Amino acid sequence: MIVKYRNLLPLLVALLLAGCAAPKTAMVKQTSLLMGTVVEITVHHEDPATARKIINEAFAEGTRLQNLLSIYDKNSEISIINRKAGIEEVKVSGEVFSLIEDALSYSELTGGAFDITVGPLLELWGFTPLDAEKKAASRQRQMPDKSAMEKTLSLVGYRDVHLDRSRNTVKLAKRGMKIDLGAIAKGYVVDQMAAVLRAGGIRNALVNAGGDMCALAAPLGKKAWRVGIQDPHSSNSVIDVIGISNEAVATSGDYEKFFVINGKRFSHIIDPGTGYPASGLVSVTVIARTAMEADALSTALFVMGEEKGRELIKEMSGVRAIFFSQ
Ligand code: AMP
Ligand code: MG
Repeated sequence: MIVKYRNLLPLLVALLLAGCAAPKTAMVKQTSLLMGTVVEITVHHEDPATARKIINEAFAEGTRLQNLLSIYDKNSEISIINRKAGIEEVKVSGEVFSLIEDALSYSELTGGAFDITVGPLLELWGFTPLDAEKKAASRQRQMPDKSAMEKTLSLVGYRDVHLDRSRNTVKLAKRGMKIDLGAIAKGYVVDQMAAVLRAGGIRNALVNAGGDMCALAAPLGKKAWRVGIQDPHSSNSVIDVIGISNEAVATSGDYEKFFVINGKRFSHIIDPGTGYPASGLVSVTVIARTAMEADALSTALFVMGEEKGRELIKEMSGVRAIFFSQ
């Protein structure tokens, strides 16, 4: 009898294993250049051909939104709003309207630290699309003079963005005002790309636009997507690794886009209150429920600094932040 049971044992184990085996999934990874950044989509799925098809749909959505929101394209709705500043209201798509509405609500939430009307300040400091080549040639700049700063600051203020929801119109109250969605658009686009994957039946995926990420569920058998937080002082090393699933991450820092005046480094994130580049932090990483929220908050917290930033997110559900100072 005993011998008989012994013979059965391996078979039983094999059957049990067969019964429990997880469905086989393949990892499919694709990249594309969008919004000036390499965007990578990673999907775990049983059928690689299906995964590739849906990933391509997500990239097509990313391209559509890039064109819709760009300030580089003079025919985009955002460029038209800017051209008509102080002149007339502009009727926009529901999508652009809602994004601007969301951006203004982050301004309210952050006491104005986040403000898409910083466009004129970005130009004053030389962070404009037209200046990109000059900037690459030399990062040395002049400090703006006091009267130019005062004049420019008078063109900045989210309360001067007038929205009419019943007609989907946007009007910038003063001539010379300019909106710039650079601190929120990438997150929004990443969320929309993730939504296309989800709608296509994909459950386990990560969309990563140069550090702005949206994770769907973790790969099967794993608790989370492991994401490295870049060392602000060295692009090749990682200072922390976090796990995310069904949430998003974004980082704002002064280590990629900056310029130098008299040996001092200035970041491309401007404090709308003073008109000067925010200083004090090297980077802020925010983990939130959507990439848009993580994107907007990481920029705002970079301006607000660690103390006020922690105070702000304390009450917000699903939001965590990692601060790095000088
Ligand atoms: P991010 O990398 O998401 O922090 O976005 C930085 C970009 O947002 C800058 O390059 C500007 O285009 C824009 N920006 C700069 N300062 C602000 C601010 N205080 N609020 C909103 N957008 C800003
Ligand atoms: Mg941002």
